[in-house]
Amino acid sequence: MQSREIRLKSYPEGLPTPDDFELATVELPDPADGEVLVRNHYMSVDPYMRGRMRDSKSYAPPFALGAPLNGHSVGEVVTSTDPDFKPGDAVAGFGGWRDHCIASGADLVRVDPTLAPLQTYLGTLGMPGMTAYVGLLDIGRPEKGQTVFVSAASGAVGSIVGQIAKIKGCRVVGSAGSDEKIAWLEGEAGFDAAFNYKRADHLNAELTRHCPDGIDVYFDNVGGAHLEAAITHMNHHGRIALCGMIGQYNATQPAPGPNNLMLAVGKRLALQGFIVSDHQERREAFFADMGAWIGAKKIKWRETVVQGLENAPGAFIGLFHGENFGKMIVEL
Ligand code: NDP
Repeated sequence: MQSREIRLKSYPEGLPTPDDFELATVELPDPADGEVLVRNHYMSVDPYMRGRMRDSKSYAPPFALGAPLNGHSVGEVVTSTDPDFKPGDAVAGFGGWRDHCIASGADLVRVDPTLAPLQTYLGTLGMPGMTAYVGLLDIGRPEKGQTVFVSAASGAVGSIVGQIAKIKGCRVVGSAGSDEKIAWLEGEAGFDAAFNYKRADHLNAELTRHCPDGIDVYFDNVGGAHLEAAITHMNHHGRIALCGMIGQYNATQPAPGPNNLMLAVGKRLALQGFIVSDHQERREAFFADMGAWIGAKKIKWRETVVQGLENAPGAFIGLFHGENFGKMIVEL
């Protein structure tokens, strides 16, 4: 049987281009003992993948040149030699960037498409949702009545951060890159305030206006000027959850750090980076809480769905231009 896959052709310099990727058709072997053949229906493109597209050590190994990329995917079992899976089962795994994948049954998780549409397991009920959950609740530790500020607020992680913070009784402020995203945040998603950072004269002025009582928790998805402005407005004993710094992922020169880090001393700030995969012990609590919140219609989300494996590189590159509204997904 034949399947198509996207390979990394070269490590990008700065912003990736379509030429850094190539589409290939391969002959799939029959699944070995304990393996499952899955027809992928949706795959995820995520900002963190940029960090694996360089030949240097990070918390995840670099993607190999000439080899297929991988990432989160959801699909349907075609054939299985693992007794735990049968044809037609809906499963999530790590076999993205290809139409079909062969995976060990041990690496697949059965998902329930009646609880939420299949692609939700790549977003709100998947890795980004869990990132929001552990990053906000365990690292940010917001308390009722406190102010939470989140950047990339309309994205897969940010939109869920803000809504969980609302559920926990916080005042929530977000920044995002278009007026349409701001309208959704302040309307549908229930943020107390949101601003378009691309139109803002100065981030400090926006934070002064929207966070009159200061910031207790800053959930950083962006780094750079956002992080610097947040530090200026943090309250004493505030927490900064360093989730990601997408504003710097394509930098070709070392990016300047926040020039006001010294404020962290006097304000007794806690700045803590975290990686969601270190928090597997929270999976059960995440599914229980998120399932209940979705059931009670307390969590809303958006998706941008790009059609076709051949368009996956463009979808990935689009993340760095804010082309996604909510979770960026590729339908295969
Ligand atoms: P998003 O869905 O938020 O998509 C990325 C968004 O970032 C874009 O839509 C764009 O929105 C914004 N953006 C892009 N470039 C810039 C820039 N230069 N400055 C400001 N904003 C920018 O992605 P995710 O929700 O998947 O990821 C959000 C963050 O969380 C990323 O930094 C990611 O690396 C990180 N992450 C960390 C994890 C962890 O374990 N620590 C796990 C998962 C994600 P806009 O229109 O608003 O500019």
